Amino acid sequence: MQNSPISKLVVEEREFFVKRDELIDPFLAGNKYRKLYTLLETPKNRYTTIISYGGTQSNAMLALAALCHQKGWQFIYYTKQLSNTQQLSQEGNYAQALSLGMQHKEIANELYREFIASLSILTDDTTTCIVDQGGADKIAYDGLRVLANEIREQRYLLPSSLKAVATPSGTGTTALYLALNLPEFTVYTTPVIGDITYLETQMQALSPIPPNLIILQPEKKYHFAKPYKEFFEIYKKLKHAGIEFDLLYAPLMWKMLLEKTQEEILYIHSGGITGNKTMLKRYIKKFSVSL
Ligand SMILES: *Cc1c(COP(=O)(O)O)cnc(C)c1O
Repeated sequence: MQNSPISKLVVEEREFFVKRDELIDPFLAGNKYRKLYTLLETPKNRYTTIISYGGTQSNAMLALAALCHQKGWQFIYYTKQLSNTQQLSQEGNYAQALSLGMQHKEIANELYREFIASLSILTDDTTTCIVDQGGADKIAYDGLRVLANEIREQRYLLPSSLKAVATPSGTGTTALYLALNLPEFTVYTTPVIGDITYLETQMQALSPIPPNLIILQPEKKYHFAKPYKEFFEIYKKLKHAGIEFDLLYAPLMWKMLLEKTQEEILYIHSGGITGNKTMLKRYIKKFSVSL
């Protein structure tokens, strides 16, 4: 695998650099590629089955489906019961994952928590691997070490004064493991799911938070995956500047960087643009906006 390229991006007259991890693969890209790197490097005969669980339009789900398809592994994915609209609009990441062979299993809402908690006890078979929701798993560590080493190798492409990288957080696995592997840089992130307390708790479940990891806190509370017009405006601005980003995570991270930082920054593109098709439809419907 070649190093993903670095591009320059001028936003609001400020020069940024972007590590183009979204270009790695159509489905297994961005931080999901990094987080699943260890599995990607695992010999085919090590496992027969991968099990995971979470949301039906999740980027991690699609990445795992692509990975299992490539490896010839069975992929079983558990979710809560689908709502009627979800059942009707079978498109986006969900449809793509099904076409890659994902076996979807719905669990009754009232049993879901307990079922997920007991997954590891139910599967004592050593050829089955369980990946925690969103790839928030210790297996993600090595892939982020590889990313840190790539950034060091590409240091000559960046101004020597650049000392900070940024990437948005869901579970915080990516930002945390990147910060641990890249102590010579400041790593900026922002909580896109839940608030700062939730994010810190998620991170601390994996490792103590290192001092070079800075969490930028939004003033306003945003609900995950809800369309906000200001997010669409940022998406559009970035797209016109030359790079498409995802509509769920990137807009808030960029908003924080533009409002709360001044230094030179390398933005690590976290991928997820396959989900834009369904999100754009929601934006166009809700705000009658155009691209
Ligand atoms: C999954 C995802 C994230 C969040 O990654 P975490 O490691 O869970 O913090 C950020 N951006 C995109 C596009 C994602 O798909």
